[in-house]
Amino acid sequence: MKIGFIGLGHMGGPMAANLAREGHAVAGFDTAAPMPEGVARADSAAAAAAGAEVVVTMLPNGAILRGVAEETIPAMTPGAVFCDCSTVDVDSARAVAQQARTAGLGTLDAPVSGGTAGAAAGTLTFMVGGSAEDFDTVRPLFEIMGQKAVLCGDPGAGQAAKICNNMILGATMIVTCEAFALADKLGLDRTKMFDVVSTSSGYSWSMNAYCPAPGVGPVSPADNGYTPGFAAELMLKDLRLSQQAAESADADTPMGQLAAALYARFVEEEDGKGKDFSAMLPRFEKRHRD
Ligand code: NAD
Repeated sequence: MKIGFIGLGHMGGPMAANLAREGHAVAGFDTAAPMPEGVARADSAAAAAAGAEVVVTMLPNGAILRGVAEETIPAMTPGAVFCDCSTVDVDSARAVAQQARTAGLGTLDAPVSGGTAGAAAGTLTFMVGGSAEDFDTVRPLFEIMGQKAVLCGDPGAGQAAKICNNMILGATMIVTCEAFALADKLGLDRTKMFDVVSTSSGYSWSMNAYCPAPGVGPVSPADNGYTPGFAAELMLKDLRLSQQAAESADADTPMGQLAAALYARFVEEEDGKGKDFSAMLPRFEKRHRD
C-alpha cells in the first residue's frame, strides 16, 4: 500500500518503520524528527499525502492536527483514508472527520494504547471511530502496528474510548499511590499490601501491571527512578481532554476532575514534570493532609 505518515516522533517513528519493514511504500513528513529506517522523506505534509491510499497522522494535539488536516486533505486522492492516531479532543476529531468526508475521503480517529514500547514492538491497541468500510481498508496496517483494533463507533468514538480509559487510569493511579502512602503510615509492609490487593477487589492495571512502589510487583518505571514510561504531563493532557469532553457533553465526572487538578498541581507547581505519572507515590510520601 502507498502510505503517507505525518508526525514521526516517539510513537509515529517506530509505527512508520514497522509499516515500511512489512513492504509498504511509506512517505514521511515531520517538522523536526528524523526519518525512520525505510521511510522516504517528503518535503511537506501535502507531498507525503499526495497519491497515498492511507494517510496516518501521529501528532501532539488537536490544534496541530487541524492545521495538518487543512494542508493535507486537499492533496489527497478521493477515496483514500485519512487516519489520525494522535490523542486529541473529540471535537477536533469530529471536525477533521467532517472535513475529510466533505472532500470525498474516508476517515478514522484511531488513538492508541501501549506507549513507545508497544509502538516499537507493533503491539499497540487501536480504538477506532469511523465507518466499517474505512476500518476494513486500514485494518492490515493496524495489524502490523498493533495487536488489537476495536471499531468503537462513529467519528470521535475512538477518542472517546481513549480519554475514558485514561481518566480511569489517572484516577486509579492516584488512589493506588495514596493507598501505599497510607499503608506506610499504618505500618503495613508494601509487599504484603501488593500481595493482598493484586488478588483482591482493589486490583487494577495501576497496581498489578505498573505498580508505583519500587521493588514491588513487576518491573515498572518506579524501579527506574520514575523515568517515563508515560510522563505525568501526558497524563495531565489526557485528563484535561476528558474534562473538556465532560464539559461539552454535560457529564458529571468529579473523580476525573479531581485527578486532573492533582496532576496539574503535580506537574505545574510541584516536581512532577519529566517524571513518570506513577511518581505520585513519592509525592504522597512527602505530603501531609492539606
Ligand atoms: P512526539 O512529540 O514525540 O511526536 C510528535 C511529532 O509530531 C514530533 O516529531 C513533531 O516534530 C511532529 N510535529 C509537530 N507538528 C508537526 C507538523 N505540523 N507537521 C508534521 N509533524 C509535526 O509525541 P509522541 O509521544 O509520538 O505522541 C504522539 C501522539 O501520541 C500524542 O497525541 C500522544 O498523546 C499520543 N500517545 C503517546 C503515547 C506515548 O507513550 N508517548 C502513548 C499513547 C498515545
